[in-house]
Amino acid sequence: MSAKNLTCLSCGTVNRVPEERLSSKPKCGTCGQPLNQPKVTEIDAATLTKASKRDQLPLVVDFWAPWCGPCRMMAPEFSKAATRLGTAVRFAKINTEEFPAVSRRHNIRGIPTMALFKNGKEVARQSGALRADQIKAWVESHS
Ligand SMILES: [Zn+2]
Repeated sequence: MSAKNLTCLSCGTVNRVPEERLSSKPKCGTCGQPLNQPKVTEIDAATLTKASKRDQLPLVVDFWAPWCGPCRMMAPEFSKAATRLGTAVRFAKINTEEFPAVSRRHNIRGIPTMALFKNGKEVARQSGALRADQIKAWVESHS
């Protein structure tokens, strides 16, 4: 029986979830929050580090900031894409104004930038605002 590591995007605990339970709304053993919801979760720098290095489900991260117009425009599109892709891919966003070290660590040159992490590695990156269907197609082409 195989299991996947999933960092809880709410509290940062790394959970091991048996593969057959991934589609039945698994919850975090520590805080009880759902582990793979079809929606966007706002995360902090520590959670990003853990999830990007250890998670075994694809994770899409939107690097954004409140002062960035295109970021605010893309936010509802990003949410729609998260809903459409369901629970096989997780969606998170991180505020680069609140966590500036994250931009340096990930070498983010402009926002919005989306990065797709898979099995501990960044496998794709896309800069500039996209529509929901474009985000979904981009994620599907790399995951
Ligand atoms: Zn938790």
